[in-house]
Order: sequence, then C-alpha cells, then structure tokens
Amino acid sequence: MAGYMDKRNQRQMDCEADPSNQDMATFFVLTQFLSGHGLFYAYLHKTGKVRSPKCPNCQENQDDDAFHTFFECMRWTGVRNCLREKLHLAAKDTTPEAVKGKMLESEKNWTTVADYVEKIMNKKILQEAAKGNHGPAPSRELRRHPGLSLK
Ligand SMILES: [Zn+2]
Repeated sequence: MAGYMDKRNQRQMDCEADPSNQDMATFFVLTQFLSGHGLFYAYLHKTGKVRSPKCPNCQENQDDDAFHTFFECMRWTGVRNCLREKLHLAAKDTTPEAVKGKMLESEKNWTTVADYVEKIMNKKILQEAAKGNHGPAPSRELRRHPGLSLK
C-alpha cells in the first residue's frame, strides 16, 4: 500500500506543473461542472463503469448528470441554497446559464461557484470511495484534508 502511494505521489509530481497550485484543483472540478464529464452516474454508465445511470442520492429517479447534480438533486439543496444566497439568485432563476453568467461577473462569484462544485464533488468522491468504486482522482482540497468527512 505504501509503495502504491509512493508511486502515485511520484506520478502526480511528474504530471502536475506545480503541486502547490490550487488553481489546477479548481480547474479540475469546474471542468466536471462545465463538461458533465466526471463523477456522474449518467456519464459513468455510458462508459460502462456503473450499472445504472440513475442518481444514487435521491428518490427522483433522474439520470445523475451534471445538471441534475448541481441544479435539481434534493441531496444538495442545503449547499445549493447557500450558493443562491451568495449569488443573489432566486430558486427559479438558478439555471446553468445564470450561474455561468454570475461566475464571469467577479472573481468572488467565480470562487463561490468553484467552492459549490468542489463541495459536492468531494462528497460524491467520498461516497464512491466508501462503496469501493473508483471515481476520478480526488481534488487537491480532499488530498490536503484527508480527514474531511461527509456531513
Ligand atoms: Zn439526485
């Protein structure tokens, strides 16, 4: 196990331009938000990694894609309410277009959205890890705080 971790860390050092660069971790999670390619069952189902595309976090029987995760899923209502409050968006106005528009308005908004995306994706990664599934590599935030737990 230790050998595996050493190799993994070495590979990270080899592949990453600057290990202390928080921007790369943010970029990684935001890419999942913007592209829909990442730890979403709808995406993982297409690539043959999970049996069902349905969201494992709610009873809505919806496909677990980026839109469902960030804009619909009841599991993340609390975090989403915080995001809406910080961006001054009403529930009905909280659309991908509106959030992307807000992101471009100020650096503060950009960070707010990045934090929102990162918070959810980190929890999803921990959930999958608990199930023994291998999702994408955890973001740097999670690596820096290995004790981070589901709330
Ligand atoms: Zn859901």
